[in-house]
Formats: sequence, C-alpha cells, structure tokens
Amino acid sequence: MKPERILIPTICIYALYLGVQLLFRFVPNSSVNFRNAEANIPSATEHRADNLWAYYLINEENTLSTDFTVGLEPVQGSFMLDERCADYAKQMIADAAAEGIELTVVSAYRSVQKQQENLESYIQRLITAGHNSKEARRLAEKEIALPYTSEHNAGLALDILTPDWWNTHDDVTADFENTEQFRWLSENAHKYGFIMRYPKEYEDVTGYVYEPWHYRFVGVYYAEKIKESGLPLEYFYKTNF
Ligand SMILES: [Zn+2]
Repeated sequence: MKPERILIPTICIYALYLGVQLLFRFVPNSSVNFRNAEANIPSATEHRADNLWAYYLINEENTLSTDFTVGLEPVQGSFMLDERCADYAKQMIADAAAEGIELTVVSAYRSVQKQQENLESYIQRLITAGHNSKEARRLAEKEIALPYTSEHNAGLALDILTPDWWNTHDDVTADFENTEQFRWLSENAHKYGFIMRYPKEYEDVTGYVYEPWHYRFVGVYYAEKIKESGLPLEYFYKTNF
C-alpha cells in the first residue's frame, strides 16, 4: 500500500477532530450551562424511576385518546383513582391522619362524560349570572378542562380540601394555601408520588389558574425531582423525555 493512502485519510480525520474541538470552543456559555443543568436532572433512561406509566402530560395539546380506559380503586369514600396509584394516595391520607391532619378528597377520577356535564352546567351557571352564551363558554373553558384534557379523566388527580371547607366557602379557592392540610401536602405529597400540579408562578405555562388543592400522581421518583426543580410538569417533561 502506498504511504499516501494511509497519510491522506489520517490527515483528514485529524483535521475533522481539530474542527470539532474548535467548534466546541465557540459554543455559547448559556448552551453549556443548559446542558449541565439538564445533566443534573437524571433522565428516565437511567431506569431508576418508579411508575413510569404515570409520567406523561395531559393538557389541551396532549389529550387522552378517545378509547382511554382505566381500572379504578376507591381512595376515600366513593372517590376513585387509577388502581395503580390508589395505594399511594391511601397511604398519604393515612399518614397525614396519623399526624392529626385530615385530608378531605373532594374530587378524584371523573369520567369524560361527567367532565362534559360539569362544563355544561358551569356554562349554564354563567349564563344565569348574566353572561351571553359565547362569553359563558369562553369563561367556563378557562376554569374547567375540556373532556379528555383533564388529569381527573385519567384517574391520576386528587382535589384535596379541609373537612370543614364548605362551611366557610362555596367554591374551591386559592386560600386553601393557608391551611394546615396545604402545609402538610407541600412538605409530604412528593413522598407519595404526588405533585401540586398548577403552581402560582406558571399559570401561563400550565394554562391553569393556581390550584393549591390539585395533586397529580407522577410516581415518587419524578415527584421528588419535580419538587426539587420547582418547575411545572410541562417544562420538566420537556427536558426529561
Ligand atoms: Zn383538580
């Protein structure tokens, strides 16, 4: 074999290597930082996550399929969740009770049909209150998720209030954040795989108003990481799948 047959490819490979090295020098700092930040959040490919089946987005862009079905199990009274996460919820409620904190479930799984009914009855309420039908629908759709877009339809979400909530309120409101139930959930829900799904700072990202009462099951591993990150699921999911 002629020497140039080896030499030329070697020079080419070396030139390519130098080119790549040079390129990396000019990668802007922010991009490097972003990659480092990403590296600090372990990804599911590490296979350390539990309950990966529950780690997905449900919102207006990511709807449940129309043939979605779920096996259900009661968690408190007649309120049910996906049978695969019901035990986590029951344990959370029991452990809170053992510390003297009574978590009262006011909503859990809702069928798509029930979701539709809720939406329609809320629209009627707004019309009765004086809004025209178009405006009533627009307002209602801001407050109540469309069928197939709610985490309640998936059996993965719980709305939790205090036992005496309805004595002093006629709606679920953000002042739930002033209760001992909320404080307990803020400190502990992630240990059972639940996250407070619609944080105050990210209403524009989630498309939902702040809902301190709404808890979504994503598995213990991701609930801890998400709590640690302080990010809403929409952002977190983007960098972790
Ligand atoms: Zn909810």
